[in-house]
Amino acid sequence: MIVSPSMSADNSQALHRWGEALARTRALSPASFEQWFGSVQFEGFDGVVLRLAARDEFVKDWVRTHFQPTLLRHLRELDAEGGAEELRVEWRVSPSIGEPICAPREPESSPRPRATTPRPAPTASRPPGRFLHGDSLNPKHTFPNFVVGPSNELAFAAASGSAGEGGPRYNPLFLCGGTGLGKTHLMHSIAHRVLEKRPDARIIYVSAERFTNEFIVALQHHKMDEFRDRYRKQCDLLLVDDIQFLAGREQTQEEFFHTFNALRDADRRIVVSSDKYPHELQRMPERLISRFSSGLVADVQVPELETRVAIVRKKAQLEGIDLHDDVAVLLAQRVKTNVRELEGTLIRLAAKASLTGRRIDLGFAAQEISALSPARVDTTSVEEIQRLVCGHFSLSNAELLSKDRHKSVAFARHVAMYLCRQRLGSSFPELGRAFGNRDHTTVMSAVRRVEALRAKDPQVNAHLQALEQKLASSE
Ligand code: ADP
Ligand code: MG
Repeated sequence: MIVSPSMSADNSQALHRWGEALARTRALSPASFEQWFGSVQFEGFDGVVLRLAARDEFVKDWVRTHFQPTLLRHLRELDAEGGAEELRVEWRVSPSIGEPICAPREPESSPRPRATTPRPAPTASRPPGRFLHGDSLNPKHTFPNFVVGPSNELAFAAASGSAGEGGPRYNPLFLCGGTGLGKTHLMHSIAHRVLEKRPDARIIYVSAERFTNEFIVALQHHKMDEFRDRYRKQCDLLLVDDIQFLAGREQTQEEFFHTFNALRDADRRIVVSSDKYPHELQRMPERLISRFSSGLVADVQVPELETRVAIVRKKAQLEGIDLHDDVAVLLAQRVKTNVRELEGTLIRLAAKASLTGRRIDLGFAAQEISALSPARVDTTSVEEIQRLVCGHFSLSNAELLSKDRHKSVAFARHVAMYLCRQRLGSSFPELGRAFGNRDHTTVMSAVRRVEALRAKDPQVNAHLQALEQKLASSE
């Protein structure tokens, strides 16, 4: 928390109360708290008047509606003298919040404990005055810090193109793929690169969740003109993360559709990310899906071993961790499907080594990795699941991958596809390739069929449970 020098020692009690009330409010929903209080500045509390500044009207309205009542309740509860009945909040709106209450959000993978009380001001990732609305950008999520391999080279090239690095520029760019595979990293990289080249560029980077929240607040407070002006006119580049969040939210979808059209008609760039391909998005209107597919759809896949090793090395270098190559290889071999987990495992390992004064050698790393829960370390691969399913249904691998449509063979194949999707989160095209080069739509309908059968047929469920148990014990 930044305390202005004008505050005297006599209100140190009030400040203590403020710090405590803030910590209690944060504890209720840390992620949401950090998101909003990253755009709010504390300007003083004398026991009666609390002064806050918000980056814009949206933030002010949101915090006033959603956090202020709780904050005031805690402040009253913490008032030993019980004289805080007439607590007041005075708000100021200022686009240049130099010292927000929360630092920009850290990547989710970070296992480092977060402060429970307000922290000192963060080192700003951009100088004040630059226009950038929305969620904060992670300063480490840049193009040079992104490791390119066959699994993500198209997405990387497309993202560089979107940032104006030459090559064709597709509008929109739709980045998709499983969780923890670098979509957000690429989106932040685009924003950083555009700001480097054009510091005055008006960039909005928001999660679809934040877009939705802001839209609701604008509706409630009759501020739709402001909202539309911001998103449709005052924006050169719009990046919307995790668009799947809009599923089923019809009014927000409608608003986003018009935002999208206005920007594209004005030749402004749009980048969208999603955990699914456009045509896999559920409860999303066809017209939005066709807009998403109208530019370039670039996916990120699970990286291959070599890329994972390079990622571990890069992360170690960025975090100043001294890591031997054999340890990097071990980590990459053991944590296969999610880069966020890979990164988290490395950081935990480094933290434990420094706390216990040990070197990160192969023995130490192997011991620590095995101690992790099976959910974190994925020891299963598509091939292992195929082998297990073949054993269970007494089939050969060739039969499983063949074009044989005989009912029992097809059933085993569908079950294997279903398990791979559930356990490994592999994409449909990836599974199509792993199952004898089938089309991704075939895999998709197989997975759905097994899901439906499992719900209504106890025998199918029993097969799946038996297989899942074997998988769990083999991990
Ligand atoms: P997503 O948005 O796809 O769920 P993120 O972009 O948040 O995933 O990535 C999760 C973590 O993994 C981030 O810390 C990111 O830096 C890292 N990461 C993912 N892919 C790569 C890559 N190819 N090179 C370097 N870091 C990566
Ligand atoms: Mg993401």
